[in-house]
Amino acid sequence: MQIAIAGISHETQTSLPGKTDLNGFSVSRCKQITRRNRARPNSALGRMIVECEKAGVEAIPLVYASGGMGPTVTDRVYDCYAGEICEELKRRAGEWDGILLALHGAMVTESRPDPELDLIRDVRKVVGYEIPVMVSLDLHANLAPEILEEATAIFGYRCSPHIDVGETGQRAARAIIDVLADRTRPVTAMKKPGLVVPSLYSATTQPPASDIRARVLEWNSRPGVIDVSFFFGFAWSDVPQLGVSAVAVTDGDPNLAARIVEDLSDMAWSHRVSLTQGHGDLYSVEEGVSLAIEKGRTAQKPIILLDHADRMQDTTFVLRELLKQGAEDAAHPLLYDPEAVKVCEEAGIGSQVRLAVGSRSSDRAGGPVNLVGTVKWVGEKQYIATGPMSRGGPVTHGLTAIVQAEGVWLQITSRRASLIDADPIEQYGANVDDFRIIVTKSKTHFRAVYEEVGEAIIVVDAPEYSPAEVSRHIYENVPPGVYPITERCCCH
Ligand SMILES: [Zn+2]
Repeated sequence: MQIAIAGISHETQTSLPGKTDLNGFSVSRCKQITRRNRARPNSALGRMIVECEKAGVEAIPLVYASGGMGPTVTDRVYDCYAGEICEELKRRAGEWDGILLALHGAMVTESRPDPELDLIRDVRKVVGYEIPVMVSLDLHANLAPEILEEATAIFGYRCSPHIDVGETGQRAARAIIDVLADRTRPVTAMKKPGLVVPSLYSATTQPPASDIRARVLEWNSRPGVIDVSFFFGFAWSDVPQLGVSAVAVTDGDPNLAARIVEDLSDMAWSHRVSLTQGHGDLYSVEEGVSLAIEKGRTAQKPIILLDHADRMQDTTFVLRELLKQGAEDAAHPLLYDPEAVKVCEEAGIGSQVRLAVGSRSSDRAGGPVNLVGTVKWVGEKQYIATGPMSRGGPVTHGLTAIVQAEGVWLQITSRRASLIDADPIEQYGANVDDFRIIVTKSKTHFRAVYEEVGEAIIVVDAPEYSPAEVSRHIYENVPPGVYPITERCCCH
């Protein structure tokens, strides 16, 4: 038996400036996919491969292109990689017993609002509808119901932080193996309650998202159920299929599948206010920094300052305020500014530098911060990630500088990344416990490590690209009936 494994992944924020082109994707092919992913516990592809091996099924990895998060993807990225996947499938047409795809679900290209659906359709054109095609997807996927006409079944991460990406790949692989062994006959259902959740409130360690996850697990354990997912959607994509989706896969029982998605959809709708607005614990940058400094004076562990609205890793609202308010022992890791890093490299370790740092991405990024600091370290480090989301994977932030600017330990990088584990601090010789305040621009992923590291999490809402209130975002392609966006439209 032969199962093809392939994928494309990108989380597209359509309002960000610029485009994500071919150079924004890293690509692996064939055995390279196995080599890079097989030993990584939180890789969907890796676990798909391992699960097939265990069942004595031959897994044949074809192409995997991953682009992280960023602005709208160019059409040629889709043409290139979807084209390559389909060409590879054609080369062995008639030999495939099943297809496993690892996709994101919130990718958007210049002319394709739902490229994942297009890809599955293109795959079906090659392999037909007689064999199973199963898909793993990100919890933040924006899904159109038509995906269930093309895919035999779909499987979403159930955790944000995404510590279960590998497990999701395993669920998809087990399900396809069961179908091929004639043990199950999957039927699917989806319900979209018409609701947009900003990423900040999709943290499944916090209510109400944690309650929804618990209900998903409860349904998942019922007899006759193959799998249940709840997709929180990606609020910053202006697409017709925007919003949350409940999905159930049952063993030949359409009524049960319908009941499950109805229940999950109703549950999400009943929590719509806190899912879109939180619990009233958002601070302005000025208030949040002041509170962090005050709490940090007596705290036993660092205070985590969450600047959730930055999607470009270079906005300066929080850094400026930390310096202005004289914060001490504050860590600001992973500020993206390759030009400032070069200034530090030219000056050398131990030198004093005068920098205008950050805010390269657009005029919404807060403007560069002028500061004077000492270069503590500069260089390019490569390491293997130790955090729960990317454990075992290679990491580099490109040429990186660490500058001590008054009370702020500032790490400036040449590649964009957000702080989701302790590595960007500890691989560079510092310790998370050295600091009273640690800034992160992650949305939920930092929680896998920093809920434990930190004594408190203070969320600030800076005027950046992804403010917490989604109705401040401009949508042109979203149909009526999506809370809270259409409510706002009705008022105008
Ligand atoms: Zn996600």
